[in-house]
Amino acid sequence: MERFDQKGMILIPNPVARTAAAAKVLVIRELFCPAGHSLISRRALFNGSPGILVGVGFAGEKGLVALSPVYGDKTRIALDIDLPAKQIANLFCPTCGIDLPRYATCHCGADLAALFLDRRASFSDCIGICNRVDCVNAHFVAQGELISEAMLAAL
Ligand SMILES: [Zn+2]
Ligand SMILES: [Zn+2]
Repeated sequence: MERFDQKGMILIPNPVARTAAAAKVLVIRELFCPAGHSLISRRALFNGSPGILVGVGFAGEKGLVALSPVYGDKTRIALDIDLPAKQIANLFCPTCGIDLPRYATCHCGADLAALFLDRRASFSDCIGICNRVDCVNAHFVAQGELISEAMLAAL
């Protein structure tokens, strides 16, 4: 559990009653684009924790989407844009506009875009988020290991 604290994350008592099975939840505190810009913003707060903010684009339209920093919480809030159902979005850094790189292929056929846990921008420490609007698949990789929600609950 300590290694998560060192990777820009913190374990806090679970504030979400519906996932009370896990006494603690993993909250992402730091996340970066490939160029090192922070993707964590106080513009979107989730239970008081700053959210993950990424740019989202569809043919001609651009906006922002805020994601809960609580791992396993699928809450997403679109800002300044409507998210068309089932569409595949282009995810990018709101600061420099660089595309978030493809980490893997999602089971739905779209891409898991990588958000990095530190400025080294290594795929061995990243979060993969599906870029299809209705797909809430997300992978969490720390030190090269895929961390599942079940494993987190046991921490
Ligand atoms: Zn950037
Ligand atoms: Zn997907």
